[in-house]
Amino acid sequence: MAVTARWPLHPCPLPYESLSSWISRLAKEYNLSTGELLSNALSIKFIRNHLIDYDPPDELIMKLSTYTGVNEASIRAMTLQGYVPWIIDTLDINNSECLRNYATQYRTLLPPKIKWMSSGVRKRYKKKITYCRPWIAEPYGKEYLFCAQCIRTDSIPYDRIFWRLCMMASCHIHGCLLDISDCSVVKLIPSSVSKPADDNLLSVDKLTFQALTVGEVTLPNGSMMNACVYVRFLRSLIEEIFCRPSSMRRCKHHILLEMIELLGIDILSWGSSGNSLLFERLPFSLRCYILKMIGFLLSDLPLSLSRWQTMQYTTEEKRILLPNAIAEIL
Ligand SMILES: [Zn+2]
Repeated sequence: MAVTARWPLHPCPLPYESLSSWISRLAKEYNLSTGELLSNALSIKFIRNHLIDYDPPDELIMKLSTYTGVNEASIRAMTLQGYVPWIIDTLDINNSECLRNYATQYRTLLPPKIKWMSSGVRKRYKKKITYCRPWIAEPYGKEYLFCAQCIRTDSIPYDRIFWRLCMMASCHIHGCLLDISDCSVVKLIPSSVSKPADDNLLSVDKLTFQALTVGEVTLPNGSMMNACVYVRFLRSLIEEIFCRPSSMRRCKHHILLEMIELLGIDILSWGSSGNSLLFERLPFSLRCYILKMIGFLLSDLPLSLSRWQTMQYTTEEKRILLPNAIAEIL
C-alpha cells in the first residue's frame, strides 16, 4: 500500500472557517496561490472559491484529509454541503419541491387556505430549469458577505462558512451590517467603516448565529428551539410576510403593508408584483428589511408575534401548526 506523507506545514482549520479560506491559508504556507495548490500539489483542476465552499468533489476532500490529517467529515463541514440536511434539505437545483416544502412548514400568521408560495421557485436559463434552494442567494457566487470587523480583529484573518448563506445580514458581535464584496477573496479597505445595524436585525441574526454554531437557539422569552426547527420557522415567517400580494389582499390585515408602515420602510423600492419575490433573489438591502421585521416579531414573544396572528385558528390548531417552543408560549 502506498504511504502518503503529510505536508510538513498544515495549519488547522479555524472555527466555522470556509474551505476556500483554509485552502488559501494552506497555499500561503508554501507561497502558492489556491489554484497552484490545487493543480500542483493535489492534481485537481482549478475550482473557484464559491464552488469550493459549495459542494466540492470528494477527491478534493479526500486528498486534503490525507495531506493534513484533518478528517473528511470535518473538512466537509467547512462547506455548504455540511449544512445538509439539518439547515438545508438539499443543494440539488433539480429538486422542485425543496424550497416550497421548507418555507411552508409552519403557518403562524396567515389564515387557513391562503396560498403563500408562488411558482417563482423555478428559474429558466438557456432552456434549463432550475429551482431555488433556501438560504442560497441567487445567482450564487456573485455576492460575498463578511464582517470586516471580525476579520480585522482575528489574530489570523479568515472567512466563515456561514457568510456563504444569505441567512444573516449583520454581525451581532460588532453590531454592524455585514459588508459585501463582489470578489470571493476579501480585501479590506483600511478607511472603510462598517455601517451600524438596527437592533431588530441584530437580535434575529444573533438567534441565527446560535442556530448555525450551537445547534439550538434561546428565544428572547427563554424558550429553547432546535436549529433545524428554527431555520425552517424563520424561513416560513419570511414567506408569510412576503407572500404573494394577491394572496395578502385576502388577509384581514395586510401584514406586509402594516409592518412596512410601522418600521418605516419604503415600499416603492420593493417593486412588488403579483408574484412573490423570493428572499434568496432579493438584494442585500431588502433582505435586511425583511430580517428586521422578523427580529421585531420575535422581539418580545409572545406579544409581538401573537398580535399579527389570525384569529381564525383555535389555540389547539395553533399548537399543531407551530413549533413546540412557540406554541407553548402563545
Ligand atoms: Zn463581526
